[in-house]
Amino acid sequence: MKQPTLYIDGRWVAPQDDKRISCIDPSCGERFASLSAAGEADVGRAVNAARVAFEVDWGRTTGRQRALYLEALADDLEQRVNALAVLEVRDNGKPLPEAQCDVADAIGCFRFYAGLARELDERQDEPLEVGDARFSCHIRHEPVGVAGQIIPWNYPLLMAAWKLAPALAAGATCVLKPSELTSLSALELGMSADRIGLPAGVLNIVPGFGYEAGHALARHPGVDKLAFTGSVPTGSKIMSAAAADIRNISLELGGKSACIVFDDADLDAAVEWIMLGIFYNQGQVCSATSRLLVEERLAPRLLDRLVEAARAIRIGPGLESGVQLGPLVSAAHHQRVSSLIELGKHGAALLTGGQRPAHLPVGYFIEPTIFDEPDTGSLLWREEIFGPVLCVKRFRTEAEALELANHSLYGLAAAVMSADLERATRVANALRAGIVWINCSQPTFVEAPWGGLKQSGIGRELGRWGLDNYLEVKQVTRYH
Ligand code: NAD
Repeated sequence: MKQPTLYIDGRWVAPQDDKRISCIDPSCGERFASLSAAGEADVGRAVNAARVAFEVDWGRTTGRQRALYLEALADDLEQRVNALAVLEVRDNGKPLPEAQCDVADAIGCFRFYAGLARELDERQDEPLEVGDARFSCHIRHEPVGVAGQIIPWNYPLLMAAWKLAPALAAGATCVLKPSELTSLSALELGMSADRIGLPAGVLNIVPGFGYEAGHALARHPGVDKLAFTGSVPTGSKIMSAAAADIRNISLELGGKSACIVFDDADLDAAVEWIMLGIFYNQGQVCSATSRLLVEERLAPRLLDRLVEAARAIRIGPGLESGVQLGPLVSAAHHQRVSSLIELGKHGAALLTGGQRPAHLPVGYFIEPTIFDEPDTGSLLWREEIFGPVLCVKRFRTEAEALELANHSLYGLAAAVMSADLERATRVANALRAGIVWINCSQPTFVEAPWGGLKQSGIGRELGRWGLDNYLEVKQVTRYH
């Protein structure tokens, strides 16, 4: 009997063929579980189940009814915060306190969208003034139908919540494909759905490989809305797949975000935010402020402090108490980040890090790394490394800082630090990014829109914008 690890139509089912996914503990490189992987036929079954659930039931429920399910999901997750956090650490490697924050944020996300589902009932059929008294018009917000959702490995449970909560709140049904590197917490969501009695087919979970299950989901004509979070190259493939029959998509892609620090910034606070902005989650954060632009006069003092702070970071397995930096997610990713660091050594000054820590001979660990003055044309400066690697450049004027910050293919996030709030606001307004932080880095709020410009993606998640991703707006106009 194959182990049933796909959640389709309210049941745990075995895939049609026998491909397996290994769950590797990144802190030691050992396999601790294995799952069956969904193939094209399984994805097809899941999409069909989601279609039936949408047509028969879920698409006709009220926001209030859906809110009750979302709250029940949140309550169920709340019962298992610690177990979920430990599972996330084993699968992804991140330090336990960070995993605990992720679980709390995922729960908060389900609760927030329960609130928006209720509000949706109040907004339904709102009258709209039109400039001709012979007509009356009202606006409806209707669910998009079946949502195909593909997510990455850096925040496995939280990314699932960011996708599922707004879609379910809107009245869409979902087929979720987690990353093949971190599928376990998404499957736990399926178990929660089971326990709370979510109607069959409303949520389907198909762990599988990107080139197979992901590809099949992206191309499936039964998917009305494709929501993707991941890298730019995969995002481009998703866009091509959706282009064939003009499907609605949203893309949350990579970043190479800048943090501009003027010399009047509060130095202690700046050091803290810069460290968090690049080393949280091992730097595997789409919005990581991985390019630091520092005003020339401040550079020597700031860099001394950053190097000192980076060397003091405690590195180790995520479940070990006091650990601040865990391993990278996989051997392949460790290899990629290490190669970019090696390449970087030829063009920029390595101020600290750049190696596997001597006390951690196994696992996918890498020291917090800081490079000074890479060439603006180098891979180090241009490419998303998605690891604990900070690149620093100096600037003399505000205009030069902005020019350096905005000169990027990406436009996800940016930060600016200065005691002069007028200047900080002026710079924030001129930054070409979807998210800008003043005198901080990385705070994320479920109420606020999340997403980027340029190659960082299309559309916004979170807040009411996240709900809009899964709603179609309809005008109904009547002639009197
Ligand atoms: P990835 O693009 O390799 O994979 C993301 C997902 O796509 C996985 O589930 C994968 O299986 C699937 N996939 C791969 N090939 C596919 C294909 N051909 N068709 C359909 N699906 C396919 O990205 P990753 O390495 O998992 O994640 C890291 C990337 O995610 C980084 O670039 C990061 O910046 C980005 N990210 C962005 C945000 C954001 O909000 N903007 C958030 C988190 C991560």
